[in-house]
Amino acid sequence: MRRIAVVGAGQAGAQLALGLQAHGYDVTLVTDRDPDAIRRGPVMSSQCMFDTALQSERALGLHHWEDQAPNISGIALSLIGPHGTPGISWQAPLEGPAHSVDQRVKCAAWIEQFADGGRGEVVLHEAGVDDLEWYARTHDLVVVSTGKGELSRLFPRNPELSPYDRPRRALALTYVRGTAPREAESAVHYRLIPGVGEYFSFPALTTTGPCDIMVFECVPGGPMDCWDDIRTPQEHLTRSLEILHRFFPDAYERYRDAQLTDPGGVLRGRLTPTVRHPVARLASGRRVLGMADAVVLNDPITGQGSNNAAQAATHYLDSVLRHGAAEFTPQWMQRTFDNFWRGWAQWAVGWTNSLLSELSPHHRALLTAAAEIPSVASALATGFDDPRTLYRWWFEEAEAHRFLAEKRTQHAARFDGRELRRALGQYATGVTVVTARAPDGRNVGMTANSFTSVSLDPPLVLWCPGKNSPSLPDFTDASHFAVHVLAADQHHLSRQFATPADDKFRGIPTTPGIAGTPLLDGAVARFQCRTVQRLDAGDHLIFLGEVEQYEADGGTPLVFHSGYYHVATKHPDL
Ligand SMILES: Cc1cc2nc3c(=O)[nH]c(=O)nc-3n(C[C@H](O)[C@H](O)[C@H](O)COP(=O)(O)OP(=O)(O)OC[C@H]3O[C@@H](n4cnc5c(N)ncnc54)[C@H](O)[C@@H]3O)c2cc1C
Repeated sequence: MRRIAVVGAGQAGAQLALGLQAHGYDVTLVTDRDPDAIRRGPVMSSQCMFDTALQSERALGLHHWEDQAPNISGIALSLIGPHGTPGISWQAPLEGPAHSVDQRVKCAAWIEQFADGGRGEVVLHEAGVDDLEWYARTHDLVVVSTGKGELSRLFPRNPELSPYDRPRRALALTYVRGTAPREAESAVHYRLIPGVGEYFSFPALTTTGPCDIMVFECVPGGPMDCWDDIRTPQEHLTRSLEILHRFFPDAYERYRDAQLTDPGGVLRGRLTPTVRHPVARLASGRRVLGMADAVVLNDPITGQGSNNAAQAATHYLDSVLRHGAAEFTPQWMQRTFDNFWRGWAQWAVGWTNSLLSELSPHHRALLTAAAEIPSVASALATGFDDPRTLYRWWFEEAEAHRFLAEKRTQHAARFDGRELRRALGQYATGVTVVTARAPDGRNVGMTANSFTSVSLDPPLVLWCPGKNSPSLPDFTDASHFAVHVLAADQHHLSRQFATPADDKFRGIPTTPGIAGTPLLDGAVARFQCRTVQRLDAGDHLIFLGEVEQYEADGGTPLVFHSGYYHVATKHPDL
């Protein structure tokens, strides 16, 4: 049986260890604190986790607080003028509720669940480099998920991916109860004062029950950076309220009678957002693999850290499972991280870092337009849940203007694209990856669920790429395309080909088909087609293809319904 050591039992480490345990691996989970010490200790985060990350916990049966954690149903944002003058405000619903379960509750429970799991062991000590040597000698793989802890220094900083070399904010957290009821649906309410700092708050579940978390992000040296003289939790609460009173008076009224949830319900600190090289070489020459905050540390301004950690655990678990019995080489470690970086982390980091500098004109334009155009607000809210969806319009100025122009036109027509998408999502489909060979020899591919059979004689099928999809010109220039109807266990391919990347095929074997079209293995059916017609259709094109060759190996297909992947089962009545 494969032995894997996971050092650090936070969001990422405990989630990965439980996932590996469930798949029969012999896991050593190393934690510097036992569950009781974690529960009694100080808070570590505000850990607002959005639906996509929660889905990764649900998939492993780990979200035990579904009914107790208060639902966070939207994102609200207020951009406040320099002298406290009211600025722009908007609110948009999230597609699924977010939850914040105090990590003292969650990680303590997960360590106990792992210990009760009957396979593997929990080791209680603060691991040092010598311990890593020992784990590397006695295990097939060592994953270091010690968060901001000292061990992350083993992994060299990657200057190309780390634009900042010092903290961009002084941070403070205050867990409180006894606040006045929220007026509207509970949302994460972000309040931004450019040049001064940000304040956001949301409901959560802590060790003593429901609470509210106040998060302060203070520009260093600015007027909100005023925590250094605080000595006691009570002083911390008083300073929190003073800041609200001075800078965010509309929020103050709700909190004026607030009390701390417990003496551990406060946190102050600073961190430098840093991306590190993911593979560290120990003195013996053995390698260990870094995960989540240990190698991708984000400022909390966009609440991405725990979400990123959950995604890291998911990607790493997937990578280990797919690797089977093969050796965990440094190349595999690098590839595992690269897939995670390309598939998720780069968007979370880019989105977060973009808010840590002065707002660029196009970011300001987007945040401002959201107050008038609900679909822009919805798109921004969705970006908190899945920062990949912010590509490209958040990251590129020209795309931002194009996006805004499109949304303005739709808005003028009073047409809610999101509602229509939700309605169309009621139609269950399979999932395909469509591939082609660009005229310059590059392989291109994208995930599509718009695949439809059209005619048997002649044999025709269609699919519909979006006009702003980056590989559209390559599909347009190629003579052929291949449609792969994905099997239930190929959801990773669906994600990989749905995520923008220079080379979406990295790590995926292909064989050349008709006209060099790259073919993927393992699909339940595959159709090689010659493009016979392209039809203009609104913001999409319709590609009509004549099937020249096909295979149908069969198996369980991947199903997509209402924004989620499903596995089809036979109807019990039929
Ligand atoms: C003020 C603040 C607010 C935040 N708010 C949010 C938010 O709203 N939403 C969000 O998604 N994220 C938020 N985050 C970030 C989030 O908490 C982290 O990104 C996430 O917890 C990272 O998970 P991890 O598993 O990598 O590390 P951690 O959760 O930090 O876990 C690391 C674990 O390793 C243990 N450890 C450390 N060193 C050793 C050692 N040598 N040996 C053994 N064990 C060790 C630690 O005790 C800990 O249990 C916030 C962070 C801060 C600081």
